[in-house]
Amino acid sequence: MGKLKQCRRVLIIGGGLSGTTLSYFLSLNGIDSTILNTSSIGAASKVAAGLIKPITGKRITLSWNASEFIEFSKDFFQSLENKSGINLYSEMNFLQLFKTIGERNEWLSRSSIDSLKPFISDIAIGIEKNSDIKAPFGGIYLKHCAIVDPTAYFEAIYSVVAASATIIDEKFEADKLVLDNNGVRYESEQLFDRIIFCDGYRGYLNGYFSKIPFKPVKGELISIECDDLPDELIIGSGTHLIPKGKGQFLFGATYDWDDMTPYPTTNARNQLIKKLKNIIAHDFIITGHFAGIRPSVQDRRPVVGFLDEFPQVGIFNGMGSKGYLMAPMLAKHFSQHILEGTPLFEEISLSRF
Ligand SMILES: Cc1cc2nc3c(=O)[nH]c(=O)nc-3n(C[C@H](O)[C@H](O)[C@H](O)COP(=O)(O)OP(=O)(O)OC[C@H]3O[C@@H](n4cnc5c(N)ncnc54)[C@H](O)[C@@H]3O)c2cc1C
Repeated sequence: MGKLKQCRRVLIIGGGLSGTTLSYFLSLNGIDSTILNTSSIGAASKVAAGLIKPITGKRITLSWNASEFIEFSKDFFQSLENKSGINLYSEMNFLQLFKTIGERNEWLSRSSIDSLKPFISDIAIGIEKNSDIKAPFGGIYLKHCAIVDPTAYFEAIYSVVAASATIIDEKFEADKLVLDNNGVRYESEQLFDRIIFCDGYRGYLNGYFSKIPFKPVKGELISIECDDLPDELIIGSGTHLIPKGKGQFLFGATYDWDDMTPYPTTNARNQLIKKLKNIIAHDFIITGHFAGIRPSVQDRRPVVGFLDEFPQVGIFNGMGSKGYLMAPMLAKHFSQHILEGTPLFEEISLSRF
């Protein structure tokens, strides 16, 4: 395959968070895109809770590149709000509940670590006596957390990229794709300079990228109604209770590495009800139950880049459980790579496989 010509038109497969953020940053650099997207059951972006949170996991560590991602995603989602006139991003305090005395001690000792300090607000004094929340071991407030409303995000991004992107409700079929020295031909007529797969968890079925160790993770959430809970605070205890306004909340999500059926299950619903009853002191009504599959990779990093053997075929995938945190900044980073050949972060580069 010879040297590729400069990129002007891109075919993007998948119109979730990854495909749409990429299309947005390409459009800022004058690159048009066509997005083929089927709204398949199990796709992650539209069922996601949309939580952006810098500290994660049982080990209480800072996410990779957390400060940069937090700042970038805030600017991105707020500028999308300004451009579209649609509210989609809310900064919110996060109350992390301690499940045991041991967990409390661990949090208290780790909260003095320099890299974590900027993200920790205060010990939640008196929370043990709060009559809405069950917190016998107390809790701690975290800063720089936010919620993106996925439905509002898609309404906004579709309106903003409309001038430079054509979004087609169609399934990509590999036998319609022809690669040649000029780029990519799809359905024999349409010529593109690159094709980039943003096909989410279904990436593991994509023959071009069989060397990537995908490890998709199913997640389930319930939506509930409860008039007696605080409306301006995310509450976390391994699983998150997220206010959606007017007494509506989302609670989740579960993690399941074995069941890849894209449907809600009774087992997960019962698990979530049990966990929720452990942290709130009020009755609630379940108003919905959703499932999706996170596009994760074994080393838990995104996967971005072009194939050595087919340099016009790329991937932007593997956002795992942190798409709303990482996708905007990585989409800009990848678009600069496409336009100017700037090197990709080693941690996310396709070349690591
Ligand atoms: C239950 C749950 C809760 C989550 N909560 C959070 C959270 O709070 N915060 C956070 O940051 N992240 C969260 N995530 C993760 C986040 O949703 C993902 O990281 C992100 O949405 C991945 O986006 P994507 O565009 O790569 O994949 P997807 O959203 O899955 O999009 C892929 C798209 O490609 C389409 N597609 C696939 N194959 C084809 C084909 N052949 N032809 C055409 N179209 C195709 C699919 O239909 C889909 O629309 C959650 C995920 C789940 C499942």
